[in-house]
Amino acid sequence: MLDLYRPLNILGFAYREIKQALTDLENMFALMDRRPEIEDRPNAVDIADVEGRVTFEDVHFHYDPDREILKGIDFTIEPGQTVAIVGPTGAGKSTLSRILFRFYDIASGTVRIDGQDLQSLTQSSVRRVLGIVPQDTVLFNDTIGYNIGYAKPGATQDEIEQAARDAQVHDFIETLPKGYDTIVGERGLKLSGGEKQRVAIARTLLKNPSILILDEATSALDSATERDIQAALDRIATDRTTLVIAHRLSTIINADQILVMEDGRIRERGTHDELLSQDGLYAHLWTQQEQDA
Ligand code: ADP
Repeated sequence: MLDLYRPLNILGFAYREIKQALTDLENMFALMDRRPEIEDRPNAVDIADVEGRVTFEDVHFHYDPDREILKGIDFTIEPGQTVAIVGPTGAGKSTLSRILFRFYDIASGTVRIDGQDLQSLTQSSVRRVLGIVPQDTVLFNDTIGYNIGYAKPGATQDEIEQAARDAQVHDFIETLPKGYDTIVGERGLKLSGGEKQRVAIARTLLKNPSILILDEATSALDSATERDIQAALDRIATDRTTLVIAHRLSTIINADQILVMEDGRIRERGTHDELLSQDGLYAHLWTQQEQDA
């Protein structure tokens, strides 16, 4: 009799495994369009206990050999700092995050985490220490509790709720008919862009990565939602190395460093105040956004 149940358990297990893999894939697709297979080097080592220093040294990169996309990128994010990248569409901002995830190998230069060359590390260990809040989050057709908790296998309900509180989404969940047991996703309750993003923030808080990439949503959110999300993002970035791909300059005023990219190069760098006083590209973008607001 008992034996009859076993295959079902195995199926349940496989189902969870497959769903986990699918979400990882979805997160991956959120970052890029297509991906060649990158193999670990035979002597690759795991990175552990990461302090969180990220360094790009003279990084050159192309998707297609006849078109260079990154043309010598240099910057360092010190552990716990926030660096924001701004610049026009196509400048290469998202490409930087894909390279940090090692979805692609670079043509020349070096990318390091805590001084270790990314190419000498196993991809699985690198992805454990990196977290991303993508622009658009894909939800499973499962409970909202599951959608948050899957980031940390074995997470308790308390941990899931704390992450949801920190991501400013707990109060919203409490208003749903079945609370954390409400089914969401394509075949369940559809969440707004802002709600989905807060679920993604809660997930990432549970994962607790040392290095965080925030890909700000380009879509317009109402200002109350934007304030809530900004509060959640500020919280998640505190004491964590953070790379923000920013679309609204107002959200990055407090960044430790802002990199202004254009056509695969960093044209300007500094704090918000320093860049304004340089009266260059950033100051121009700032004036433009102020006028549009
Ligand atoms: P940004 O994030 O600043 O808008 P991206 O990093 O997405 O810019 O893109 C930089 C350049 O690389 C763009 O010209 C884009 O068309 C090109 N690009 C992006 N992804 C691919 C790809 N998978 N294959 C070929 N070219 C790509």
